[in-house]
Amino acid sequence: MKLGKFEIAILSDGTLALDGGQMFGVVPKALWERKLPADARNRVRLGLNCLLVRTGTDNVLIETGIGDKFEPKFTDIYGIEKSTTLLAELKKRGLEPADITTVINTHLHFDHCGWNTRIDNGRVVATFPRAQYFIQEGEWDHALHPTERDAASYRIDFFRPAELQTEFLQGDQEIMPGIRVEVMPGHTRNMQCVWIESEGECACFVSDLVPTSAHLAYPWIMAYDLYPLETLANKHRLLPRLVERNALVVFPHDAQTPCVRLHDEDGKIVAEPVVATS
Ligand SMILES: [Zn+2]
Repeated sequence: MKLGKFEIAILSDGTLALDGGQMFGVVPKALWERKLPADARNRVRLGLNCLLVRTGTDNVLIETGIGDKFEPKFTDIYGIEKSTTLLAELKKRGLEPADITTVINTHLHFDHCGWNTRIDNGRVVATFPRAQYFIQEGEWDHALHPTERDAASYRIDFFRPAELQTEFLQGDQEIMPGIRVEVMPGHTRNMQCVWIESEGECACFVSDLVPTSAHLAYPWIMAYDLYPLETLANKHRLLPRLVERNALVVFPHDAQTPCVRLHDEDGKIVAEPVVATS
């Protein structure tokens, strides 16, 4: 897809299945299962969407999926299915890992930074040898010392081996002309969304503030969120801006409609799927 002078593409790293109750917090199953039906283990199928931005000079990767460094038990619990992988999707577009110049993670949960690293001859190394990685410093510190409540969401080997290539951010910042991050606390204290802007057009990777199109309704907030009332406040802050700017909105975990534009219909935010033409 074109976005001004940039080219953008949503790349899938496969899918995973998470407990529906955890995905929808206080919303009863009677309501959420109409949007996302549950499997026999009460899990809903979710995408692992990453966004590639080609600016002409840089190849920027926003999120790196779930990767391949997990044991069979983990694969089973999280229902990981790999009909494709991020690296295969890059290859299809003529890109090798060494062609990626920039990696931006919104946060370091294992389903967002899996391919930050890979196993090479038994050692875990940075997957993208020439890339500069960007993360909020507060998220990095928290990922190394999570609480008992969210420890299961972090895998240190998924991000720490790339530490020497990592630049730590403090708050909202421009990464390069046309690409900037904005901190949106709620899911974690320092999660960031990523804005891409070129020639008046704009896209936003909203990360787990709105993981799927089923989470557009303001109170539909995941049980995983550490600060759900801040998620609520930030949804009220962000969604009207996305409507106003007619932004392309990219969801991290929507397997069916990863990319939409939003409209306000009498106070209700509704999504109109954008069909990718890449
Ligand atoms: Zn997350």
